Amino acid sequence: MKVHEYQGRELLAEAGLPVPAGSMVQTVDEAEQAVKAILAAGNKLAVIKAQVHAGGRGKAGFVKLVKSAEEARTAAKFMLTNRMVSPQTGPEGLEVKRLLVAAAVDIAKEYYLAITVDRAANTNTMIASAEGGVEIEAVAEKNPDAIKKVRLHPLLGLQPFQARDLAFELGFKGKQVNQAVGVMTNLAKLFLKFDASLAEINPLVVTPPSQKHPDGEVLAIDAKFNFDDNALFRHKRIADLFDPSEENASELRANKFGLSYVALDGNIGCLVNGAGLAMSTMDIIKLHGGEPANFLDVGGSATEEAVTEAFRIILSDTAVKGVLVNIFGGIMQCDIIARAIVAAAHQVGFKVPLVVRLEGTNVEEARKILNEAKREITTMHTATNLTDAAKKVCAAVA
Ligand code: GDP
Ligand code: MN
Repeated sequence: MKVHEYQGRELLAEAGLPVPAGSMVQTVDEAEQAVKAILAAGNKLAVIKAQVHAGGRGKAGFVKLVKSAEEARTAAKFMLTNRMVSPQTGPEGLEVKRLLVAAAVDIAKEYYLAITVDRAANTNTMIASAEGGVEIEAVAEKNPDAIKKVRLHPLLGLQPFQARDLAFELGFKGKQVNQAVGVMTNLAKLFLKFDASLAEINPLVVTPPSQKHPDGEVLAIDAKFNFDDNALFRHKRIADLFDPSEENASELRANKFGLSYVALDGNIGCLVNGAGLAMSTMDIIKLHGGEPANFLDVGGSATEEAVTEAFRIILSDTAVKGVLVNIFGGIMQCDIIARAIVAAAHQVGFKVPLVVRLEGTNVEEARKILNEAKREITTMHTATNLTDAAKKVCAAVA
C-alpha cells in the first residue's frame, strides 16, 4: 500500500527524523492561506507539492517554490486543474486532489537515502548516494559506484557501525555526521516497525551553514513509502492512511470480493481461475492476434456472487468488445461459473460476444445450465479447448 508524501512526512517526524513542518490542503484558497502563514512566520519561500502516488513531480512542474500569496494561487490552481504526467504515471497522467504546503529550505547538497527489499540478496537493504535529487535513476545507470548499499540484519536492523561508515562514505562532515546517522537509524527502525517494503527520502538535504547551524542542517524534504499489504492487519496506524481515491476503482471493487484484477489496454475481457491459467490465457489471446483488456483471477473458492461481480467489473469497461471465460474447475466448480454467467446476463446483460470454455469439476452440470440459457444469452459461444476459445474470441472482436 502506498501513502502520500504528507502522510510519509508525518511518519518520519513521529520517528524522530527532521522534517520541515507542512500541511495538506485541497483548494486554492487553503493553499494561499497556508503559504501566507508560512511567509508571516518569517520564511522567505514556501513550497507547494502535488500529492499523488507517483514521483517525478519536480520535473513535471508539480513542485513549485513560491514567495507570495499570488504565486501560491497560480501554482495551486495549475496543479489542481491539470493532470500530472511524469515517467512514473503513464501518458494519461494523474488527477491531483491534494497539495502539500511547507516552508521551503535552502539546499547546499542533495542526497538519496532509501530502504527496500533486495530480493536477490534476500535482505532489507539501505541504498544511499551523495548524488541525490531528481536524477537518481540516471546516476544508477551511468555511475553505479556512486550508489552505496548496506544490508540490514533481519533482526538487528541497521547497526550503529554501519550507519557511521555510510555517513562518512557519503561525505557528511562535522555535526552532519551524527544527524545523518540519526536519520539512517530512525528510518531503519520505522521500516521494520511498520513492515514497509520501501522507505525513500529523495532528497535528504544539507542546508547551507548558518549561525545556528555552522555545519548546516540535515533535513528530509521528500518521503515515499510502500507497505506490505499482508502486514496491514497489525498496523492500524498505516491502514488508516489508505486513500481509495488514488486507486483504480475497478481494482478496488475486485479486491473487496477477493478477486485479483489488473486493468490492461486491450479489448478482450478475461475471466479465469488461477493466476497461471490467467497468464497463459492472456498469452494465447495474444498468440491469436488479440489484446487482453484485463487480468482477472477469480481464485479457487469464489462464490457465485463474487464471480457475478467479476463479470460486472469486466463489462463496465467500455473498451471490452468481447469476453473470454476460461475455467479449469479443480476446487472451483464449473456450475458456479455457469450460474454466475446466467446471473450476470440477467443483471448486466452480455451485449458483446461471450466465449466460454469450461473443463473439470461439475462440468456436466455447468454445460446443462449454459445450454438452457443459450436462447437467452444470444451472444454466447462455447469452445471445446483453449485454442478454439482464443480463436473464437479474437475473431469475434476483429
Ligand atoms: P519529486 O520530483 O516527485 O521526487 O519531488 P521532490 O519533493 O523530491 O522535489 C523535487 C525537487 O524540488 C527536489 O529535488 C529539490 O531540488 C526541489 N525542492 C523541493 N523542495 C524544496 C525546498 O524546500 N527548497 C528548495 N530549494 N528546493 C526544493
Ligand atoms: Mn523526490
